[in-house]
Amino acid sequence: MIQRTPARIEARDASHPSEARIEPDNTPDWQQILSQSVTTPEQLLERLGLAPEDWYRGAACGHRLFPIRVPEPYLARIEPGNPDDPLLRQVLPVAQEAEVHPDFVSDPLEEASAIQTTGLIRKYTSRALLMITGQCAINCRYCFRRHFPYGDHRLGPEDRRQVIDSLSASPEINEVIFSGGDPLAVNDRLLSQWAELLGDIPHLRRLRIHSRLPVVIPQRVCDSLIDWLSRTRLQKVLVVHVNHPAEIDQATRQAFRRLSEAGVTLLNQSVILRGVNNSSATLSALSETLFEAGVMPYYLHAFDPVSGARHFSVSDTDAIRIVNEMLENLPGFLVPKLVRELPGRASKTPLDLGS
Ligand SMILES: *Cc1c(COP(=O)(O)O)cnc(C)c1O
Ligand code: SF4
Repeated sequence: MIQRTPARIEARDASHPSEARIEPDNTPDWQQILSQSVTTPEQLLERLGLAPEDWYRGAACGHRLFPIRVPEPYLARIEPGNPDDPLLRQVLPVAQEAEVHPDFVSDPLEEASAIQTTGLIRKYTSRALLMITGQCAINCRYCFRRHFPYGDHRLGPEDRRQVIDSLSASPEINEVIFSGGDPLAVNDRLLSQWAELLGDIPHLRRLRIHSRLPVVIPQRVCDSLIDWLSRTRLQKVLVVHVNHPAEIDQATRQAFRRLSEAGVTLLNQSVILRGVNNSSATLSALSETLFEAGVMPYYLHAFDPVSGARHFSVSDTDAIRIVNEMLENLPGFLVPKLVRELPGRASKTPLDLGS
């Protein structure tokens, strides 16, 4: 249970009626919302008014490979009765997930070979990725981490010491990225301890967080999160992960506003996904919606050949065509960089957009 700070209660009682709307007193907190997520095919189909005879077999089959998890605030943005809803497609398992294909593998990014010490993945010179937790607030069917052996990455006190020692001994690292799973699925006490330890390493400049939680459960942007974010000396970047404009609602916009008021730079990364966002109209609308909400587009990831997710795959040719159309529709700053992660490279690799 997250404690509300006295300052926050004062603010609510006194002069900030607009803030009071973010978390009325009878609203459950984020951990409660998370624990009440839909986690079975039956619940998901019933909640969304989809006929079990059409969808149950596929849903149950995919669910056995990678369990369903969808929190209520995300469900509320899905149009009931519409099997083609772009948000639904990201969370509803289908029979194709069980298909085996030789080009679609379980660790397409070869992350297993980049592990520095337990929990620390280092592929690039100036930044290191800290796997805070394997847990996520939502299970996305296309996720390239769906097969990752998270069980091996639970960090104990000794692991934490080793991570800090390793970072302290690497002056070329200036940025630590909280990743996972979803790093914000962990409580703020633990996160603020990490932030404090990292803040004591003089050569670190930035703390970056990659999380889908502020979108999936906007209530995650609570007082205690804002509190430790405001306290760290490190510059803060939050990379949210939105694939479709319908994922952004009023509550998400308020959560983004609170984060930017706390000095957090907000960026977005998406994955190009067939049936979700594979058109320049949708992705242009996404960029516009993000910018209105104070978030800058950062990366558009080309599809990685993850086993079980082939039905989402968009060819590079199509992705390149779509981004070229976006360049015609949008100011340059609203066009995300189309990249792919290739094993062994010193950075993400931009796709050649041609001439
Ligand atoms: C993607 C990634 C980063 C961050 O790369 P940027 O290009 O800085 O966003 C860092 N470490 C690892 C292991 C990554 O996969
Ligand atoms: S790591 Fe990100 S994309 Fe993958 S399931 Fe978790 S929230 Fe979804």
